[in-house]
Amino acid sequence: MEITILGSAGSLKAPRIGCECRVCTELRENHLIRGGPSIFINDLNLLIDTPDDIFCLLNKNNINKISSVFYSHWHHDHVAGMALFENINKELNNCLGDEGTINHEVKLFIPKDLLKVLEQNTYFKEVLVKRKYVKPVVGEYHDLNGFSLEIIRMCDLPCYCLIISKDEKKVAICMDHGKYLNDIKDKLDNLDLLICNAGFFNKELKGLDVISEEHPLNKTTSFESTMKLIKEIKPKKTVFLHIEELWNKTLGDFEAIEKEHSKYNIKFAMDGLKINL
Ligand SMILES: [Zn+2]
Ligand SMILES: [Zn+2]
Repeated sequence: MEITILGSAGSLKAPRIGCECRVCTELRENHLIRGGPSIFINDLNLLIDTPDDIFCLLNKNNINKISSVFYSHWHHDHVAGMALFENINKELNNCLGDEGTINHEVKLFIPKDLLKVLEQNTYFKEVLVKRKYVKPVVGEYHDLNGFSLEIIRMCDLPCYCLIISKDEKKVAICMDHGKYLNDIKDKLDNLDLLICNAGFFNKELKGLDVISEEHPLNKTTSFESTMKLIKEIKPKKTVFLHIEELWNKTLGDFEAIEKEHSKYNIKFAMDGLKINL
């Protein structure tokens, strides 16, 4: 299985415009950009999430064919680039207005309750779906070219984890809100690979020395809790994405954390990272 991390950032892509912090400066000096959270499963032409820069991330990685898509949840940083489906499908000779299009629609594997949420977006419902630029395939289990896809609800948001397996290989992908992986631990045994958000480092954050008890960060995923889960479920390898500039960590800082936890085989992704299983 070949997997490409298209975008490794979270809700704030980096370097941030106008920001001269150590993180943004280092990225700029190295001509690096962290794009929005998105992954491509090369064997399946399956795209996971469409941040608003997805068009650029796909072109940068020479990806020319998308057969299907999975959405982890509806938050803006994960779906804002949904016009991609129109970009892929719209042609002058297949454009029938509200009657839809001919040919190549992209399949969207989606549970019913997430589809309901997305349908509140008029552009999604009245243009992308109605004109057949994207075709929702409702359900939690899907077979795709000999791979099995299982979509597991982690929390009421609703937010989902995707488990892809084939033969002896098993991969779990959690694009955000990883603390809820704790609620589906029974599904996470024998993982060859876990891809998830690392969670906030609640020390040395940018612009915030001490976190008050009421601060919303205390409710979000923390790196400590993610490591605790990894020590329990013991995936063979873990790749972190949804990397936030606000953590105030340079590339060297991330390397040091990887070394410190070397026995758990963790890696902080950079855009374009390829993983082969
Ligand atoms: Zn910055
Ligand atoms: Zn997010």
